[in-house]
Amino acid sequence: MKVDLHCHTNLSDGVLSPTELVRYAGALGIEMLALTDHDRADILPEVSTIARSLSIQLIAGIELSSQWCKSGVHIVGLGIALDSEVLQQVVASQTQTREMRAQEIGERLAKLNIEDSYAQAKAIAAQSQIGRPHFAQHLVATGQVKDIKTAYKKYLGAGKVGDVKSFWPQLEEVVGWIHAANGHAVLAHPAKYKLTRRKLDALCRDFKDAGGDGIEVVSGMQTKDVTDYHEQLCKKYSFYASCGSDFHGPVSSWHDLGKMSVMPMSCAPVWELWR
Ligand code: MN
Ligand code: MN
Ligand code: MN
Repeated sequence: MKVDLHCHTNLSDGVLSPTELVRYAGALGIEMLALTDHDRADILPEVSTIARSLSIQLIAGIELSSQWCKSGVHIVGLGIALDSEVLQQVVASQTQTREMRAQEIGERLAKLNIEDSYAQAKAIAAQSQIGRPHFAQHLVATGQVKDIKTAYKKYLGAGKVGDVKSFWPQLEEVVGWIHAANGHAVLAHPAKYKLTRRKLDALCRDFKDAGGDGIEVVSGMQTKDVTDYHEQLCKKYSFYASCGSDFHGPVSSWHDLGKMSVMPMSCAPVWELWR
């Protein structure tokens, strides 16, 4: 079964609209797809209709930002009830947090003589949830860096001046919200935090203690070493295994929709919950 449980539309920082994304998934033969925009969860009726006509099982999802020790950590909520009142509150509060954080990023960049970046990033974000990608685009557009990668390397990446995570809620809080909306909480892209193995193990332990249900054993294309380690963690903490491409748009073939390493057979797949 072809499954992708982590991707973005232009409701957050993805390129394709939800209908374009679902059509693309259909063309790729994907059978189960979770839409997991940052701090947004909407599945419009027309999107469901297209999915049904393409025999795609759509799972309602959301990607929420959290903080753990000194790391910004992402948690994907899968199978959430879109009519949940808690969910509406979460979307509102994370949106506000994003706003405050973006203003803080703008203030910090201003100290480096990069003026007015908040307003410019906000204009680029338009209807989407504002985030670091919009600041990165602004820095490139104004020629302050040569490309997006450099924008992260110099200003926005982990540990840089624009990496503001102090506003995000703790793991327990985020997991609690997802459960209140009848969803399952999955630790997103574990390798992306660049933690040592010991630290990643500690994160998984804390995530389990916080009520976490699963981890993305596979996130896009990764080496066998990484998959093996995630498989170990998945079993050690009795997590469900999830997998997703974290697709944001048809730009890099490395992150194409549905493109990911093979899921180890020994893990309990989270999608069995909805079959
Ligand atoms: Mn993103
Ligand atoms: Mn993420
Ligand atoms: Mn993502």
